[in-house]
Amino acid sequence: MAIPLDEDPERPSRMARLRAVWNPAWAQARQNLRVWIPWLATRRDAACRVCVPSRDHRTGLNWEVALPRQCWFCATTERLEARTFDRDVRCFEHPLQIVGVALAISAFCLLLTCIWWVMAVVAWVALIGGAVVVLLKSWHEQVQVTLWACPDHRATLRRPEMVVFDDDLTLILGSESLTAAMRAQLKALRKVGPRDAAEGATSRSSDSSAPSTQYAPSTPPPQPRAELPKIKLAGDEEE
Ligand SMILES: [Zn+2]
Repeated sequence: MAIPLDEDPERPSRMARLRAVWNPAWAQARQNLRVWIPWLATRRDAACRVCVPSRDHRTGLNWEVALPRQCWFCATTERLEARTFDRDVRCFEHPLQIVGVALAISAFCLLLTCIWWVMAVVAWVALIGGAVVVLLKSWHEQVQVTLWACPDHRATLRRPEMVVFDDDLTLILGSESLTAAMRAQLKALRKVGPRDAAEGATSRSSDSSAPSTQYAPSTPPPQPRAELPKIKLAGDEEE
C-alpha cells in the first residue's frame, strides 16, 4: 500500500491533532451547556446526573469524591477494585449572563447595519469580546473521583463527565444504579453534616444549628437590668 510522500506514518496528521484537541473541548462545552441550561440535558444526563455539593467535598480548589463501594455497572459489592480519575476542570463565573449581554449587543448592532455598515464589525467585536470575557472570568479546579469496578466491568470503566458550576460538582455517572446509590450517600451525608458542624463549633446537641451561633454573643447581657433606675432619673428631670 502506497503512503503519500507528505505523510509520516509515525506522526499523526495535522487534522488528527486538531481533532484530538477539538473533540474533548467541544464535548466539555456541550456538557457545560447542559448543566448551565438544564432543559438542554438529555434523558441519559437526567437519569445519571449527581450534584455533589462543595461543602463536604471541596478543599480550596480541589475536589475529592468517593463513589459508593459497588461496581459502577452491575452494583456488586464483591471483588471490587478502586480506580481514581484526576481531572482539571475549567469553571466559569456567570457565563450565561456574559454571553447573553454579548449576544444582545451584537443583535442590536446587526439591526443598525442597514444605517451604517460598520455596525456589522462592532457586532462581531461584541461576540468575540464576550467570549474573551467568559475565558477571563474562568479558573481551574482539580477533581479527583474514585469509582469501583468488579473484574467483569473493570475494562469498561470510564471517567465520569464532570462540570463544576455554582459551587456544585455535577457528575454524569455510567449507570442508573450507581447514580441512585450516590444520591442516597449524599442524602445521608447531608443529614449527618449539620451534626458534624455543630460538634466542631460547640459540643452541644441541638437540632437547629442557626440559634446556636446566636447564643454565644447574646448570653451575657441579662445584667444591665440593674441599671434601669438611672433611666427613671432622666424622666424625673423632665418633669
Ligand atoms: Zn460489575
